[in-house]
Amino acid sequence: MMQGMVAGDFGGKLGLEYVEGLVTDAMKTDAPHDPDRGHYPYARQVRTGWHRDAAGAWAHDGVDDHLWEVFCQQCGDTDGPAENQNPAVRQLRGPYRHKHTAEHVANEHFKAFRAS
Ligand SMILES: [Zn+2]
Repeated sequence: MMQGMVAGDFGGKLGLEYVEGLVTDAMKTDAPHDPDRGHYPYARQVRTGWHRDAAGAWAHDGVDDHLWEVFCQQCGDTDGPAENQNPAVRQLRGPYRHKHTAEHVANEHFKAFRAS
């Protein structure tokens, strides 16, 4: 009904431009090495017992008292188990045996991907 009113070349062209705009936006927000956007990694204790909560978001039951990991959302870390992440994120996650090691890695990563 509404669709019939905008059908035709004009409507189709608008639709294509809309899709292209979405793709451009996605590239802006997801690019891990965009120099305009810094990375803000942080060290945290390795999380255990990953599961999805009622809303579908990752939740965890506890933490490992002896292992640390580095989380960097700007690298594409989507949270949840490390084995679900891309290779760069998995490497960053570690895990590390000492908090200061994880914090050092996070700091070096922050400096390497600092916003220009
Ligand atoms: Zn990063």
